[in-house]
Amino acid sequence: MGKERKSNGAADAEPQQPDSAKQGFVRVRGAREHNLRDVDVDIPRDALVVFSGVSGSGKSSLAFGTVYAEAQRRYLESVSPYARRLIDRAGVPDVDSIEGLPPAVALQQQRGAPSTRSSVGSVTTISSVLRMLYSRVGHYPPGQPMLFAEDFSPNTPQGACPRCHGQGRIYDATEASMVPDDALSIRERAIAAWPPAWHGQNLRDILVTLGYDVDKPWRDLPRKDRDWILFTDETPTVPVYAGFTPKETKQALRSKMEPSYMGTFTSARNYVLHTFAGSQSAMMKKRVAQFMVGAACPVCDGKRLKPQALAVTFAGHDIGALSQLAIDEVAEILRPAADGRLRDVAQAGDTLTRKASRDATRSRVASGAPPTRRRPTCA
Ligand SMILES: [Zn+2]
Repeated sequence: MGKERKSNGAADAEPQQPDSAKQGFVRVRGAREHNLRDVDVDIPRDALVVFSGVSGSGKSSLAFGTVYAEAQRRYLESVSPYARRLIDRAGVPDVDSIEGLPPAVALQQQRGAPSTRSSVGSVTTISSVLRMLYSRVGHYPPGQPMLFAEDFSPNTPQGACPRCHGQGRIYDATEASMVPDDALSIRERAIAAWPPAWHGQNLRDILVTLGYDVDKPWRDLPRKDRDWILFTDETPTVPVYAGFTPKETKQALRSKMEPSYMGTFTSARNYVLHTFAGSQSAMMKKRVAQFMVGAACPVCDGKRLKPQALAVTFAGHDIGALSQLAIDEVAEILRPAADGRLRDVAQAGDTLTRKASRDATRSRVASGAPPTRRRPTCA
């Protein structure tokens, strides 16, 4: 990137240019930040400028590490020392000189995307155009009423998947997460997710009353019993005989003896999920969080939208799938629509007139996609 620069020792060795020629550029001389090797570059001002190059060629070092860092440094010199401390500083760039530098703002690159290519989902304005497109000209299943654009956003209550609340992931408690050592018996605290101390003992005593074997290794209990103990939504309230052995409990129940108290059962999973969602105690939340595992939401398949929104398709794709494609792929899918051949992509059930949908699609979609060219027709 850039040309090699030879120093001849003279600070102003470059040919003098008239001021008018300098004004239109940010002139960088001798940039050496990171992997830059004495790069000289004139960047046009008042223009959209793109630095392109292979990974590691120094694009970010030039844009963020040099130009933006210097702009920020100059700005910070103009604010009070107190304010300066509140601002994250980019540091002083390694560069000989930068002229014609305007105040600069840096926007962070998108982080954490699985692909290095931008998907539609990462470009907000295109996302909102797509939502409009699906609302107005998407293909609806027979009988389904038309949805609003907001219904296609996982960030609205109308659009979010009801199971995962628009997160795309659900956190659940499984047998493996709640019973880390299945060689232990319930009495030996096989159900690690159960509450500690008295509450856990209470749940165990309730199981004794209900006739479950709390002294067998967990893995030797019938599947049906294990599933009920871990996952049931039933909450039976039963007599509890505190400190009684299972045998004594059986006898007490038979003779209808006065119980120590009545105890209400909660399955291990419900205990974990309810505590996580409802507990006021950060410590309790933290404790139960270790028994939860994350997975893609089974209802929306990680697409974060409610089923009605995902049932609407355009060119055969639901909006969740389309949003995960790279922009150039989306542009290709939408090209016929942008060319005015909407009928080719959308199917029966369009609710707009051909002209209205063409106008809407053109103005909104084409603006977010690369320029499209009408294919020559030989009529
Ligand atoms: Zn979901």
